[in-house]
Amino acid sequence: MKVLTIIGARPQFIKAAVVSRAFKEHRPDVQEILVHTGQHYDANMSDVFFDELEIPKPDYNLGIGGGTHGQNTGRMLEKLESLMLEVQPQWVLVYGDTDSTLAGALAAAKLHIPVAHIEAGLRSFNRKMPEEINRVMTDHIAEILFAPTETARQNLFTEGISEAKIKLVGDVMYDATLFYKEKARKPQLPPQLDIRVGDFALCTIHRAENTDDPQRLKNIFQGLADSNASIVFPMHPRTKGKVANFGIAIPENVWAIDPVGYLEMVWMEANCRLVATDSGGVQKEAYFFGKPCVTMRDETEWVELVEAGWNTLVGSNAKKISDALSGLSYPESTEFHYGKGNAAELIVDILCSLKSKAN
Ligand code: UDP
Repeated sequence: MKVLTIIGARPQFIKAAVVSRAFKEHRPDVQEILVHTGQHYDANMSDVFFDELEIPKPDYNLGIGGGTHGQNTGRMLEKLESLMLEVQPQWVLVYGDTDSTLAGALAAAKLHIPVAHIEAGLRSFNRKMPEEINRVMTDHIAEILFAPTETARQNLFTEGISEAKIKLVGDVMYDATLFYKEKARKPQLPPQLDIRVGDFALCTIHRAENTDDPQRLKNIFQGLADSNASIVFPMHPRTKGKVANFGIAIPENVWAIDPVGYLEMVWMEANCRLVATDSGGVQKEAYFFGKPCVTMRDETEWVELVEAGWNTLVGSNAKKISDALSGLSYPESTEFHYGKGNAAELIVDILCSLKSKAN
């Protein structure tokens, strides 16, 4: 069986790393062909993950990145269609909610190649987010939908997607955290930055709703500045560009560093005091490491953690951000919602069991 896997952005490299390993270990008979769309192309947003996480080198790199959503999606669609016609896979595998996800799913569906969507069913119910459009569209053209949580499964069901197509397998990011935490390593930090284990906040910001709105971005930095936290901030290239464009000064208590590799990120998540982020993945990783999370968004797809008290939504309100960063809350007990750490294995088994139907 031939599976064409399409990835293009940082979180997809991490998710694909565990699924590709599961193919190799459990189903070596499956030929996985890896396509990198080129959506993320900086070395510290792409190459580092292939090297550190031992992801096979992509069989194809489409080199498409840097454009608008429409440009990227359109160019990917065209190239992916030709590639699919050439490769003739039995399945196309897409991850998450980026332009690469939608382009891959759409190209495949139009060629009647079944699409499997990993991390299906997440919803923010905010259609202004490009990610929300990508995930809703992808879910509705996918043949098989791997939901990470019961909430995600319910969302799909509510939208009228047939129950038979939905498989609740757990979260591949939990698999990744379990596997790679043993290999975690302290990042090379500026020598003057004396981070003490358990005594710093780890911050990431990259969602367009925050980075593209100067007032929101300024408020967020104000909130970080007003907190009493020492903050390490691996800064996404988009955020770095916007901070410079909007003339926002980085506060003294914030250490902006380049994006780090996953093994270093995991080390910081394991050793920080708390996490402040607008990332989907980082919200959950905070919880996997037992760290409270302050989420600088107005809503989240990972509602279970808000309900359980591990995650506090503060939007871009400076006072709420600084208050949340100064406080700590460790809920007593929490039901675990992200599977058993074997999501990748389940995905591979299910795909292989459906092979005959796909043919
Ligand atoms: N991450 C990383 N280095 C960084 C920042 C994030 O390896 O400097 C990892 C993080 O641990 C998580 C993933 O990237 O696994 C999340 O990706 P991102 O925040 O870009 O996307 P999202 O999860 O919001 O879709």
